[in-house]
Amino acid sequence: MTSPVPALLAAGTPTFSYEFLPPRTDEDEAVLWRAIRDVEPLRPAFVDITYGAGGSRRDRTLRTVERVVVETDLTVVAHLTCVGATEAELRAIVRRLGDAGVRAILALRGDPEGGPDAEWRPTPGGLDRAEDLVRLVKEEGDFAVGVAAYPQRHRESADDDAGIKFFAAKCAAGADFAITQFFYDACDYARFVAAARAAGCDVPVLPGIMPVTSARQIERFPQLSGHPFPGELAARIRAAADPAAVREIGVEVASGLARALLDAGAPGIHLYTLNRSTAAREIHLRLTS
Ligand SMILES: Cc1cc2nc3c(=O)[nH]c(=O)nc-3n(C[C@H](O)[C@H](O)[C@H](O)COP(=O)(O)OP(=O)(O)OC[C@H]3O[C@@H](n4cnc5c(N)ncnc54)[C@H](O)[C@@H]3O)c2cc1C
Repeated sequence: MTSPVPALLAAGTPTFSYEFLPPRTDEDEAVLWRAIRDVEPLRPAFVDITYGAGGSRRDRTLRTVERVVVETDLTVVAHLTCVGATEAELRAIVRRLGDAGVRAILALRGDPEGGPDAEWRPTPGGLDRAEDLVRLVKEEGDFAVGVAAYPQRHRESADDDAGIKFFAAKCAAGADFAITQFFYDACDYARFVAAARAAGCDVPVLPGIMPVTSARQIERFPQLSGHPFPGELAARIRAAADPAAVREIGVEVASGLARALLDAGAPGIHLYTLNRSTAAREIHLRLTS
C-alpha cells in the first residue's frame, strides 16, 4: 500500500501531525503511550517517531514504530538517520520497516555522534548525507520519503543559499515532503518556501512547531535548534506568575504562529510533543474549533 501522507499534504485541507520520541525506559514508554492514545481521537494525518542514534535507543525506535502500526489506526512516519550504520545495515532497517507495514520514512543524516556541534564524520561504509539516504530508501521500495528543512538555516550551512541548494538536492533525489526544524517567526518559513520554490523544489513543506511548556526551555531550545530563543518571548515567560501561566503563554504563542503559517499557505502544522501531548492537542483544537 502506498503511503497516504503526500496526498494528504497536497489535498488543500490543513493537516495536523505529532512527533514523538522513542522511550528510554519502561516508565517513559508508559508516558509515550498515554500521549499517543491522547492524540488518536484527533485523527492526525500521521504521527512520527524520531530515531535515536545509540544502539538500544535505535531498537526502541523500531519497536515503537512497529507497535504503533500493530496497535493503532494511526499512519506512522519513521525517522531514520545515517548515524552509526553501514549502507547494508540501513537497507536492512528500511526492509524491517517495510515488513512492519511502514510506508513513509523521514530520511535524515543525523547529528554527529559527539553532539550537534561536533564535526560530522560518516560511518565507514555508510552514507554522508540525507540526500543519499533518500535515494537508498526509494531504491528499497514504495516508500514516501520526507526530509528535514531549516527555515533559519542548519548550523553547518555556510549561508542561506547553500542551505537551499542542498535542500533542493534532497528534493531532486526523490523527497516527497519536508518537515521543518522548529522556529518562531512565520516570515522565516515564508522566505524559506519561496527560496525553495525558486530553486525548483515544489514538495509540501510542513512547518514544525514546538510549544513552550516550561521556563527551562528558554535555555534548552537553542541547544536543539542552534538558534537563539526570541528575547521578547523569553521576557514574557520569565515574568509569568507560575508554570500554568508559562504553559498558557506557550500555547497562545504557538497557536498564533500556527494560524499565521496556515494563512501563509502552509499545508498543515507539525507539532513537536516531547511525549507530552496536552499543549499540542490544545493548539490543534484552538485551530480547528
Ligand atoms: C524535522 C526534523 C526531524 C529530525 N529528526 C531527527 C531524528 O529522528 N534523529 C536525529 O538524530 N536527528 C534528527 N533531526 C536532526 C538532524 O539529523 C540534524 O539536523 C542533522 O545535523 C542534519 O540532518 P539533515 O537530514 O538535515 O542532513 P543533510 O540534509 O544531509 O544536511 C546536513 C548538512 O550538510 C549540508 N549539506 C548537504 N548536502 C551537502 C553537500 N552536497 N555538500 C556540502 N554540504 C552539504 C547541509 O546544508 C547541512 O548543513 C531532525 C531534524 C528535523 C528538522
